[in-house]
Amino acid sequence: MKFSITSKGDSQSNALMHKMRTYLLDFDLVYDESQPDIVISVGGDGTLLYAFHRYSSRLDKTAFVGVHTGHLGFYADWVPSEIEKLVIAIAKTPYQVIEYPLLEVIVRYQHGGKESRYLALNECTVKSVEGTLVMDVEIRGEHFERFRGDGLCISTPSGSTAYNKALGGAIIHPSLQSIQLAEMASINNKVFRTIGSPLILPGHHTCMLKPVNRPDFMVTIDHLTLLHRDLKSIQFRVAKEKVRFARFRPFPFWKRVHDSFISDAD
Ligand code: NAP
Repeated sequence: MKFSITSKGDSQSNALMHKMRTYLLDFDLVYDESQPDIVISVGGDGTLLYAFHRYSSRLDKTAFVGVHTGHLGFYADWVPSEIEKLVIAIAKTPYQVIEYPLLEVIVRYQHGGKESRYLALNECTVKSVEGTLVMDVEIRGEHFERFRGDGLCISTPSGSTAYNKALGGAIIHPSLQSIQLAEMASINNKVFRTIGSPLILPGHHTCMLKPVNRPDFMVTIDHLTLLHRDLKSIQFRVAKEKVRFARFRPFPFWKRVHDSFISDAD
């Protein structure tokens, strides 16, 4: 089996990376950065986001596993003291793969420029470069509302515990093939009106944002920020691709939510 390891880059994560690499090579696994079967991320959820984007062109052939060197993560749930156990599990046991939904983002431009397609593991956010964001929101091809405010966040179920949660969005179990649209400080008064609640769309529903005045936007895809000019529309839906995680022991999603946000004491 071929593996690669991505580190957050701090001294603790780098030391763990080197240790795991040595142990796995001792078990006759092959280190292959370009075509790994398993990618180990050492750091935090942010490190796993980075690893995901690095290998996003071969998601069907890659399984991810995360070790956290800071606090418990949603994607990084092994602790440094468990790495020997994890190495043995990777080397010796056929692991179970669990799949989580991803967000597909298609950006189309005015004047017929080539469209751009992205996959997000957590979310995509759209903000105006200057002034209030004004966007028409369409759902399944029907006009839904004209949004005015700071921005919009469209997240995956596993990303629902990240930026989406800070916006008052719901936490969604990753077994639900869905995306969630959450508002950032919408303007609501006698003239302007938005729904004001997060919306959860099923796998077969598409959401489209269309600029009303200015066509330039700051678009984030997970940790990446991109400036898009002359934008015609941004389309969102559940992607056909999935992210695959290697599971060596049960760690139910709701337990991770509890341990991350409520308390890690049993
Ligand atoms: P960052 O600003 O350095 O860290 C953002 C925080 O979000 C980190 O503590 C990270 O955990 C955590 N996180 C990432 N994915 C998560 C998930 N699925 N569930 C719960 N927490 C999660 O940025 P970054 O490390 O490059 O990560 C980019 C992410 O930051 C974006 O995808 C977005 O979700 C999040 N973000 C959140 C807010 C907010 O909450 N107001 C604002 C901007 C961006 P680790 O410490 O384990 O890496």
